[in-house]
Amino acid sequence: MSNRPYIVGNWKMHGTRAMLAEARAIDRAAERLLKVEVALAPPFTLIHATRKEANLIGIGAQDVHPADGGAHTGDISAAMVKDAGAGFTIVGHSERRANHGETNALVKEKADAVIAAGMSVIVCVGETEAERDSGKAEGVVGDQLMASMPTGEGVAEKVTVAYEPVWAIGTGRTPTVEDIGAMHRHIRKILGSLYGEEGAEVRILYGGSVKPENASELLAADDVGGALVGGASLTAESFLGIIMAA
Ligand code: PGA
Repeated sequence: MSNRPYIVGNWKMHGTRAMLAEARAIDRAAERLLKVEVALAPPFTLIHATRKEANLIGIGAQDVHPADGGAHTGDISAAMVKDAGAGFTIVGHSERRANHGETNALVKEKADAVIAAGMSVIVCVGETEAERDSGKAEGVVGDQLMASMPTGEGVAEKVTVAYEPVWAIGTGRTPTVEDIGAMHRHIRKILGSLYGEEGAEVRILYGGSVKPENASELLAADDVGGALVGGASLTAESFLGIIMAA
């Protein structure tokens, strides 16, 4: 496992070409911040242009359709995002799971398709507030991992897990450092049962209301290998604040 922290910005449904200036500024700064591995997942429409603006940081997609191609109006395949310049894809984000009814089985199909296309994959998992309040958080996250992680020879080195409690996304609320550490240790155990020894090499990111002000505290939690950042990745200023804290 690379011991450089991995900081990934998820732009969600934000960004027109006017935002390329932010990507350029992040990329320029990344030159001086080689201790951190930085990546951005802009919307599909900006992948190609962002790749051209930014040479140093990773560029990825936020989702893909699991099929190779065909009659799927409005969908985009893994090979297509790779061709546009993506080196990784996020799958199973809770907004996809909730707004598009994505099941663990579909998330796994997508994750397998991303790997088959020659990219790495970030698989998102996380419990709702009700699940945490009823003591089910570890069970839910464990079930998500067992059913949605990609499988196959040599896959572990292409995989990153993002633990994102649904109730912490975009809310300004975060779990305690102890709760994050406990969940990441739990995830590490599940990765061991999925991938054997190679499970130790998989990076586990924390996501949910990461900001420049709380980044160093959250990133210091046990077994946190970086962060998946939504709102605070939309400007170079706040995203660089997080990268500098890492
Ligand atoms: P947030 O989003 O940083 O805006 O809470 C995180 C995410 O959804 O990846």
